[in-house]
Amino acid sequence: MSEDISRVALVTGGTRGIGAAITHGLHRAGMTVIATYHSNDEAAENFRRENGIADVRKWDVADFDACRKGVAQVAQDHGPIDVLVNNAGITADGTLHHMKPEQWSRVIDTNLGSCFNMSRNVIESMRDRRYGRIVNISSINAQKGQFGQVNYSASKAGMLGFTKALALETARYGITVNAVAPGYIDTDMVASVSDDILEQIVRGIPVGRLGQAEEIARAVAFLASEDAGYVTGATFSLNGGQYMA
Ligand code: NDP
Repeated sequence: MSEDISRVALVTGGTRGIGAAITHGLHRAGMTVIATYHSNDEAAENFRRENGIADVRKWDVADFDACRKGVAQVAQDHGPIDVLVNNAGITADGTLHHMKPEQWSRVIDTNLGSCFNMSRNVIESMRDRRYGRIVNISSINAQKGQFGQVNYSASKAGMLGFTKALALETARYGITVNAVAPGYIDTDMVASVSDDILEQIVRGIPVGRLGQAEEIARAVAFLASEDAGYVTGATFSLNGGQYMA
């Protein structure tokens, strides 16, 4: 592995679930890691106390100005951000004929809007320094669609287009932009799915189990490393064979 010791990485939604595993992975790779969250102070405080491996910050990634201020403060405290992982995401499920406009816009603004809000605020510095790694956490449901998730599937599919377009714009500046599309991973987000639906989902996964957050974190750590300089605009599908893109 190359030496990543001096890199500064920011993981949105980095205090729980997949994000927390990514925070651990980047810390193990020798990076200074900043983990952000939105509202779950208890989980964030536990993460901070139990691990002590990341600087924990709170802001809403759906809010452009909050991202601008947060990124500026992090840069002042730790130096400019070299690695950005756009991981924060939410669901607000419902079939389209029942979906409220608020359900649509909250999911789009949080999952896809955050990619603009965060990337826009780090990209100029990355271009100036001719180095950067951006990893966007999409989903299998961007690739195959999911009943009851037009908002979520659209937001996550939007992230794939965002990834490819930004990869083209930044390739010549030493910046890579990639997406990871996890299948069903054992986190709080999946715990909210009812037991019978979960059983049905697991029956459809060829490896016969849910994925683990650490399995996603290992792929992110590779994409975030200096070794991955020739990988850009890619989508890594990690889904136990459930959908072969
Ligand atoms: P969790 O619900 O466990 O954690 C989500 C994290 O995102 C939390 O830290 C949360 O903060 C943060 N967050 C949510 N909204 C905002 C916001 N507006 N501003 C800042 N932070 C926010 O999610 P998972 O770990 O399960 O999922 C992580 C990512 O992976 C998501 O993008 C999800 O869509 C994607 N994914 C997950 C899959 C799965 O099976 N779990 C499958 C495919 C993709 P707080 O703690 O304050 O609530």
